[in-house]
Amino acid sequence: MLIVWGSKGFEKNLGDTIIQHECGNCNNHVTMQGKELGRKFTLFWIPIFTMSSSHYLLCPVCGAGKELSKRMLATYMVNSED
Ligand SMILES: [Zn+2]
Repeated sequence: MLIVWGSKGFEKNLGDTIIQHECGNCNNHVTMQGKELGRKFTLFWIPIFTMSSSHYLLCPVCGAGKELSKRMLATYMVNSED
């Protein structure tokens, strides 16, 4: 039996954070956004689990930002799921 597996990249917008500041890159006063970028393991093209992911705090205007740990970003989210 042939088992088809692979991986698929994904991008998820997590919404607003509680951080509002003047972006050092574009100088707009913005509400920073949370974003998750990662890769899922797929089996017969169905995503099974997340293999790796990175969490970012991003400026919604210019996209400048920085990587944070998942736990750190969660403490900044307006609608935290945890
Ligand atoms: Zn910006």
